[in-house]
Amino acid sequence: MAAVPLYCVCRQPYDVSRFMIECDICKDWFHGSCVQVEEHHAVDIDVYHCPNCDVTQGPSLMKKRNNWHRHDYTEPDDGSKPVQAGTPVFIKELQNRTFTSGEEILRRMKGEQVTPKYLERQGFNYPIVITEMEGLGLKLPAPTFSVKDVEQYVVSISFGHHKMRETVFCCFFFVFFQPILS
Ligand SMILES: [Zn+2]
Ligand SMILES: [Zn+2]
Repeated sequence: MAAVPLYCVCRQPYDVSRFMIECDICKDWFHGSCVQVEEHHAVDIDVYHCPNCDVTQGPSLMKKRNNWHRHDYTEPDDGSKPVQAGTPVFIKELQNRTFTSGEEILRRMKGEQVTPKYLERQGFNYPIVITEMEGLGLKLPAPTFSVKDVEQYVVSISFGHHKMRETVFCCFFFVFFQPILS
């Protein structure tokens, strides 16, 4: 029987559950925890040098930051690409924005007014507060309905238009009715 290959400074066989990084010099693989490389930091490393190789080759080379508005900040043609949510540029822009108060954009409507026809005509571009349930023709989700359930419904979007409409209403109810009821 062939010997099981061993990796890393700890010389252990491969364990699928542990994050590993390959040394670009010696091509051995290392556990992140054995060489102090966090998995989410590994994406920033361009050329990795393990603890054995950095003695002769110097430290790992990090990716050069070309931009602050993209998650992949090494994209070659980033100049023409839009700002991505969550990037430093996005956060700065968000902090500098002023927002109208919720009361100014909320539409207060009665259940009977919120029909599929209305939504088809007007779209669903503003949050709607339904002041009276009557005539809406929809039931509230159970009190146990949670964000996890929303996720379930969103997953089912791909199964057809009918489900999608239910999803929209479910999210809608969850957001606007749940705080009032609980
Ligand atoms: Zn190890
Ligand atoms: Zn190495």
